[in-house]
Amino acid sequence: VVCERSDVFASACAVARAFPLFTRRSASSRRTEKKHVTVEFVVFSLQICLSNAADGVRLAARIVDTPCSEMNTDHFLDEIKAVGSELGITPVIIRGEELKQRGFGGIYGVGKAAEHPPALAVLSHTPDGATQTIAWVGKGIVYDTGGLSIKGKTTMPGMKRDCGGAAAILGAFKATIKQGFKDNLHAVFCLAENSVGPTATRPDDIHTLYSGKTVEINNTDAEGRLVLADGVVYASKDLSADIILDMATLTGAQGISTGKYHAAVMTNSEQWEGACVRAGRSSGDLAHPLVYCPELHFSEFTSALADMKNSVADRENAQSSCAGLFIGSHLGFDWPGIWVHVDIASPVHAGERATGFGVALLMALFGQASDDSMLNQVSPLGAPTNKPEDKMERDCKRRRLV
Ligand SMILES: [Zn+2]
Repeated sequence: VVCERSDVFASACAVARAFPLFTRRSASSRRTEKKHVTVEFVVFSLQICLSNAADGVRLAARIVDTPCSEMNTDHFLDEIKAVGSELGITPVIIRGEELKQRGFGGIYGVGKAAEHPPALAVLSHTPDGATQTIAWVGKGIVYDTGGLSIKGKTTMPGMKRDCGGAAAILGAFKATIKQGFKDNLHAVFCLAENSVGPTATRPDDIHTLYSGKTVEINNTDAEGRLVLADGVVYASKDLSADIILDMATLTGAQGISTGKYHAAVMTNSEQWEGACVRAGRSSGDLAHPLVYCPELHFSEFTSALADMKNSVADRENAQSSCAGLFIGSHLGFDWPGIWVHVDIASPVHAGERATGFGVALLMALFGQASDDSMLNQVSPLGAPTNKPEDKMERDCKRRRLV
């Protein structure tokens, strides 16, 4: 591959997306013969970063492509343990009835009807000399039937992909730590299968989440926000994170808001909003901001009986923003840290295939704390919005286009 130095990272991640790992085509078919594709980037001393990033993208895509008959919560935990053992990290796992006992009413309530119990799993990297604590929290719904508010026969296929946020965080964590990372980084996985059964959560049930807030369930298909609310509060209370980013295939409305190619980003920090957009451009995992206005939108969740409902009153009022606000409300809108919410419902796949979306975005967005010079280079943070070099680069590109 021959490209501009500034495009190397995005190009390598794009190539990785084109060569997925998962297939169950039978061995007799000629199309499943193993083929080796060698992609060479002629860039001095930066290849290790590119191959780790490519591995991360393909790990995430493989998990998302794998159907729930194979990728249930047991198997997802095996994937987390495998990454942990490669990095020398033992995951913390809270599972099944222990979730209920410890107050994780969101994750437990969503996953309790499934054959394979729900889990909260955490991989932690805590190097000496760290100056801040970052937590990535991923939605890992290994299958979403919608629960008792069940999806239809045309809207359910593809719901194996509802673990795309957690898969991206696992791929990004593996690649990021392998490249060396100076700050504390925790990957928090909220794993559950939203299933139908006699013990399934009913509409009208009221659950107490890990935040202590009560939620009247009016739609069991709005389950991602429930597991993520528990995850972000765990990151703030138990991990003392300064920066919390949650990533999720959260709303169908994300595609309406920002389309198939751009993740929707919502954050309480203007600086991070801009950084997400720039990290999207430098990584190829594009992102665009959503409206962030809790003072006008949070009333969509008003409940007469509990602190809030879990699904909005008016689905035509900034639905993707509202879904994100539900998560933020459990942290508290006055929480002093930085909170970033990334909805990847549409870009998680392109047609029938997973894209591994989110891995490159996370690596780039947090690249300033990396030991790797390429990730430092693609990271937008700490850099003023209109650096003269950026402008020069843009002018160069413009000239080439002319
Ligand atoms: Zn759902």
